[in-house]
Amino acid sequence: MAKNVVWHKGKINKEDRWLLNNHKSALIWITGLSASGKSTIANELEHYLFRNNIRTVILDGDNVRHGLNKDLGFSATDRKENLRRVGEVAKLLVNTGIITIAAFISPYKSDRLMIRQLFNEGEFIETYLKCDICVCEERDPKGLYKKARRGEIPNFTGISDPYEVPDNPELTVETDILSIDKSVKIIIEHLKKRGLLN
Ligand code: ADP
Repeated sequence: MAKNVVWHKGKINKEDRWLLNNHKSALIWITGLSASGKSTIANELEHYLFRNNIRTVILDGDNVRHGLNKDLGFSATDRKENLRRVGEVAKLLVNTGIITIAAFISPYKSDRLMIRQLFNEGEFIETYLKCDICVCEERDPKGLYKKARRGEIPNFTGISDPYEVPDNPELTVETDILSIDKSVKIIIEHLKKRGLLN
């Protein structure tokens, strides 16, 4: 951090914003292989929350690489910096009282832990979309597995790069067995159980 930079405390805190919104905020961190359903579930979940008057936003892996993180690639170092920035943005959003849904492959345990550590206990909800790679490869909505198998995409998670399965996620959703609706319901029930939604 640069020298002579002092934190300026605002007058409105997160709890004030929760009162205004009539719900709490948290980061729902969706991790899983490409095509496990992260974007699909993030969007369905956001749609449900929005329809129920809940302030919500999605940070999507592919989307942030079009702007904020367009200078980064897929090496382990770049993936870490990608997620560090996303974690900081997510923290700003959660502190603003918004339920933030992040959909990132985020294959490394250490990177997910780095983001968890930015948040208070209970505010980081690691949601692992468990989906057999064969199912992901069969779905292949963007044709990425085919390209990766042809050797056209280096560092492709699950093919030429590792995916480290979360040890203790707050939630595991088996998207290769469950429907999209059921998968989203499981997440909503969890948010209710945690008292995030009134
Ligand atoms: P990711 O963001 O993880 O790369 P996407 O959401 O882009 O994955 O793609 C997942 C694909 O799998 C979509 O075409 C979606 O319709 C399909 N799909 C089938 N069943 C499910 C499920 N239970 N959950 C999520 N996606 C599913």
